[in-house]
Amino acid sequence: MADSREARANIGVVGLAVMGSNLARNLASRAGNTVAVFNRSPERTRTLVAEHPEAGFVAAETIDEFVASLAKPRTAIIMVQAGAGTDAVIDQLTERFESGDIIVDGGNALFTDTIRREKAVRETGINFVGAGISGGEEGALLGPSIMPGGSAEAYETLGPILASIAAVAEGEPCVTHVGTDGAGHFVKMIHNGIEYADMQLIAEAYDLLHRVGGLTPTEIAEVFTEWNRGELESYLIEITAEVLRQVDAKTGRPFVDIVLDQAGSKGTGVWTVQNALALGVPVSGIAEAVFARSLSSHPEQRAAARELPGPNTTVTIDDVPAFVEAVRQALYASKIVAYSQGFDAIVAGAKEYGWNIDKGEIAKIWRGGCIIRAQFLNRITDAYRADDSLMTLLAAPYFRDAVIRTQAAWRRVVVVAAEAGVPAPAFSSSLSYYDGLRAERLPAALVQGQRDFFGAHTYKRVDAEGTFHTLWSGDRSEIGSAGSSH
Ligand code: NAP
Repeated sequence: MADSREARANIGVVGLAVMGSNLARNLASRAGNTVAVFNRSPERTRTLVAEHPEAGFVAAETIDEFVASLAKPRTAIIMVQAGAGTDAVIDQLTERFESGDIIVDGGNALFTDTIRREKAVRETGINFVGAGISGGEEGALLGPSIMPGGSAEAYETLGPILASIAAVAEGEPCVTHVGTDGAGHFVKMIHNGIEYADMQLIAEAYDLLHRVGGLTPTEIAEVFTEWNRGELESYLIEITAEVLRQVDAKTGRPFVDIVLDQAGSKGTGVWTVQNALALGVPVSGIAEAVFARSLSSHPEQRAAARELPGPNTTVTIDDVPAFVEAVRQALYASKIVAYSQGFDAIVAGAKEYGWNIDKGEIAKIWRGGCIIRAQFLNRITDAYRADDSLMTLLAAPYFRDAVIRTQAAWRRVVVVAAEAGVPAPAFSSSLSYYDGLRAERLPAALVQGQRDFFGAHTYKRVDAEGTFHTLWSGDRSEIGSAGSSH
């Protein structure tokens, strides 16, 4: 292993499971990087070094060796299991690093943990950067989308290194300094939430094409391949076609038919929804996607409900190509809503935590490397470049036109799904959100009345300033904010 403790590596990676080892290989393949590697269990380090002699890794068996092999200012990227593992490694590094050194957490940390860690590490003079890294193991190796937070000072050193390993989209590296402390991990969390919604919408489109349109998985694979040539072009549509085309070697059946229909998750979708709830942002598409996975994962409850009746009538589709096109349009419109809601959550998070986040730049760094990479992100960048204070993406000319163009099909598809008894929670909640947002009057007025009735929660009037309460259990007269009769 490491011979002398000559400080010759300009960057190090701690944690050499799939993500860390691929990221280390990515770093090593770039000119100018000498990469130190360390893992708690030395076998992983030995395996990586043995399998990739071309990388010229500086391998360390102990944390002291690792730190000694880093040139100053030292920079180390932590890629360990999020949570206690991350805290343990941060402690080990802060004990050994000096002021001006940089610790990067590239794991999937909860952004509030990153805020806490950044504060604690900063007090020692060491820089701490929480960086969201998206793209899975392939992204880590070939170029991920990277969302670093932390100080601008740390980014000066770190930025060029991250830019050298990030995915490249239309000639630009998919990395930007998102904002201070936990901003990077917050944005990564929202990215994952949008990913949940996007996946669920695609799954609903598949279900409708299959169960209502009568198409086979292979036929739907062709449909998705075709869709991928148009405005829906994206990594998720592309891989969905691949999954649907797959045939199970053991049974000869479509692969999708032999997979148990219970979707798992690692929790970032839940975090997105929990935080959006706390921030008061209706990310209904993302929430429905999380709930759809939860519903799928209750086999006993689903079994108990299996005999419940569905609709009496059968929906028949006479013009299948027209139905396919309607589903495509419904998917596109719902997808716009999901992204719009995700960006609303970014705006709300930035306000709450004091981050200055360039939304157009975020859409740009999601164009490559990450799971939600898609052509249409360029349009989001354009929208925020044209008007940074846009109240909703849906109001941007491009997206408004897209929804005007697709809404008739969107509504029809939601109706057909309801009539056929096929669940389409993300399609329908996105449409309800759209209609809620554009409504001139909402039944929230009635809810305010109910709240005032049972809890004296008060209400505001459309025709006067102030706060009011009706004496519901008295003479039902109204008292105004000044306590006077109105
Ligand atoms: P992982 O399975 O999440 O974690 C395994 C690694 O963590 C091993 O190197 C393990 O060391 C180390 N570790 C765990 N507890 C530790 C502790 N207390 N002290 C020191 N090291 C400890 O690995 P992964 O899938 O490569 O992911 C790494 C990070 O990237 C995670 O935060 C993950 O959420 C994030 N991430 C993953 C993906 C993905 O697609 N997998 C995508 C984006 C981000 P030992 O070998 O000694 O056990």
